[in-house]
Amino acid sequence: MSIFKERILSEGKVYPNNVLKVDSFLNHQIDPRLMEELADSFYQEFKDARVTKVMTVEASGIAPAILAAYKLDVPMLFAKKQKPSTIEKKEFLSAMVHSYTKDTDNRVIVSSKYLSPEDRVLIIDDFLANGEAAMGLVSLVEQANATVVGVGICVEKSFQEGRKRLEDHGVHVYSEARIASLDNETVTFIDGH
Ligand code: 5GP
Repeated sequence: MSIFKERILSEGKVYPNNVLKVDSFLNHQIDPRLMEELADSFYQEFKDARVTKVMTVEASGIAPAILAAYKLDVPMLFAKKQKPSTIEKKEFLSAMVHSYTKDTDNRVIVSSKYLSPEDRVLIIDDFLANGEAAMGLVSLVEQANATVVGVGICVEKSFQEGRKRLEDHGVHVYSEARIASLDNETVTFIDGH
């Protein structure tokens, strides 16, 4: 079993509504070495995909995304949840994303300056649940007529519909850990470990 999965088992806490809290190494305090190991796996998976940019959404996607971008030697672009006053309306792309954990709707935006039709974008995020965040990012890339080469996820909750939505859209999904169930406050991975 990977060190990442072992950390999920030893430190993860299951909350109501199938929310897994991994605040000690991914979502609040961040373990840089662990992020580097995840980035190595993302690099192995996507190194031949001619990625020109890694993209994520603030805030929790930034740590794994920046290290993956570093390994792939490309810039990392993160979508913002609020429009900064310094960006003019015609200069940004936006998509609506429903937050699974907060039950709120957020508009995510990026400056159109940083995505062009030549870009081949790898989307990285911390969690994949219903696929809202990832589909929002896919939409931003598509609005720029750029190409999504795939989605790399740290923790996939495979019992929710995110992977299916992305695959139905033709997007390749690679996840470091795939969780089959969080029933009885217990993490069960999809490969049975
Ligand atoms: P989705 O957009 O795929 O429905 O949910 C993914 C987003 O919601 C991630 O960016 C992540 O921040 C948050 N999220 C979804 N499920 C969980 C969870 O079980 N634990 C944590 N910590 N975040 C989650």
